[in-house]
Amino acid sequence: MMAYGERINVKTRRELDRMREAARHVAEILLEMREMAKPGVTTGEINTAAERSIDRRGVGSSFKGYGPHGMPAFPAVVCISLNEEIVHGIPGPRELENGDILSLDFGVYVDGFHGDSAVTLPIGEIDDESRALLETTRASLYCGIEQMLSGNRVSDIGHAVQKRAESAGYSVVRQFVGHGIGRSLHEPPQIPNFGPPGKGARMRPGMVFAIEPMVCVGDCEVEILDDDWTAVTADRSRSAHFEHTVLVTENGPEILTQMSGSH
Ligand code: MG
Ligand code: MG
Repeated sequence: MMAYGERINVKTRRELDRMREAARHVAEILLEMREMAKPGVTTGEINTAAERSIDRRGVGSSFKGYGPHGMPAFPAVVCISLNEEIVHGIPGPRELENGDILSLDFGVYVDGFHGDSAVTLPIGEIDDESRALLETTRASLYCGIEQMLSGNRVSDIGHAVQKRAESAGYSVVRQFVGHGIGRSLHEPPQIPNFGPPGKGARMRPGMVFAIEPMVCVGDCEVEILDDDWTAVTADRSRSAHFEHTVLVTENGPEILTQMSGSH
């Protein structure tokens, strides 16, 4: 778990313009990757395409080279995690297979401001259990986003996520959390996907958070593989991850990383 300071940034209109721009590129490139995600394609090919799109657009990768706390720098522009992998999978020669579930977690920055979003996709025909996992994880993200109202408390988000996921019989990962986002990819506050409501800072217009539930079919215990990055479920049950970058406004939450056709 990362240690964050306490202060939650409130963005200016000018800063929000840059964040909207970053978030739009994130959503568009995620849609491009989604188009490619078919049996036989390697995760490395998806990463290469995303990197080319980043270069073409003249934006920066939030993930490539990222290495907090002495960890090895992340070598790719997108985290690609399959099946029992929860998050932080490294793209490579592995080919997508019919029945896989594929998580893409992606971020870029524009003029120093970041956007961050993730989606889990079915590859070909997936089993009913996996389909229900994807639906529940996406629904739990939206339950969390609905709590992003001015005056609500930060922990109202995670409480709503947990309630939705657990009522469907799934577990939520404790080890990784949502986060504030702006000039840094990870800013205060930390936003766990569990816990009681009514705790933490009050949300205010201009705050921007990345909400990102990770939900498991089995137990939520996490193991890290030898590459120091890939997080898998200890029981090797399947896991899904959905994320949006969301702004608190006077009129409710505004999902910055959403566009027509995205999750
Ligand atoms: Mg992310
Ligand atoms: Mg994130």
